[in-house]
Amino acid sequence: MSFLKIENLNKSFGDTQVLKGIDLEIEEGGFLVLVGPSGCGKSTLLNTIAGLENITSGKISIGGRVVNDLHPSERDIAMVFQSYALYPNMTVRQNVAFGMEIRKVPKPERERAIQSVAETLQIAHLLDRKPSQLSGGQRQRVAMGRALVRDPQVFLFDEPLSNLDAKLRVDMRTEIKRLHQKMGTTIVYVTHDQIEAMTLATRIAVLRDGLLQQFGTPTEIYNRPANIFVADFMGSPS
Ligand code: ADP
Ligand code: MG
Repeated sequence: MSFLKIENLNKSFGDTQVLKGIDLEIEEGGFLVLVGPSGCGKSTLLNTIAGLENITSGKISIGGRVVNDLHPSERDIAMVFQSYALYPNMTVRQNVAFGMEIRKVPKPERERAIQSVAETLQIAHLLDRKPSQLSGGQRQRVAMGRALVRDPQVFLFDEPLSNLDAKLRVDMRTEIKRLHQKMGTTIVYVTHDQIEAMTLATRIAVLRDGLLQQFGTPTEIYNRPANIFVADFMGSPS
């Protein structure tokens, strides 16, 4: 049973078609990684799932509900971007609380949610600081906390680690894997890093020029690449 399903998705900007008949699905609690070279349409695909971009044609369903015409706020999705803009004048606590979009959640409950997410992400000792007093990795954790605190059905990540240095990237990769195992949330994660894809994914989708090249488990993609492009991109043995 797929939880998130994308059927024959097409997206054009003016005369340029950037997504060409994409079919993808992921089961509840699955970790789908979208990989492909820069400009192949990964962010656009993620943005259409989030509802930040309209689609030209096709169908997107989440939990059995077609979301094509739903506003982003109605999709029960949280997104973490590469440039995780935190509010500079707000404390970490306020930044995280903002993720709840203050849906009239009573204060004690809000405070409990913030505390719980902060502990999960190991930022509880930073709650009263401003973003400028944090390291890059800590800022990334706060951005994740802001998304996590909303307890979304689907988590979207657009190259969340690409601004971090190599060591931190590996640490955060482990962290994201641990979080996924703990929370069991359905995740769609964009990266251009093959190793990140291989370590995190339960399913990988390889894109090139808006066309899906292959969709499968990490082992399938690596051991039985559908074509030379996939083999080259994933570094499969020849
Ligand atoms: P990726 O995330 O894989 O690097 P993108 O989804 O950002 O790729 O972009 C895919 C293609 O769509 C690129 O050619 C890009 O220039 C184009 N594109 C993305 N957003 C827009 C936009 N708002 N208007 C016009 N073209 C866009
Ligand atoms: Mg992108």
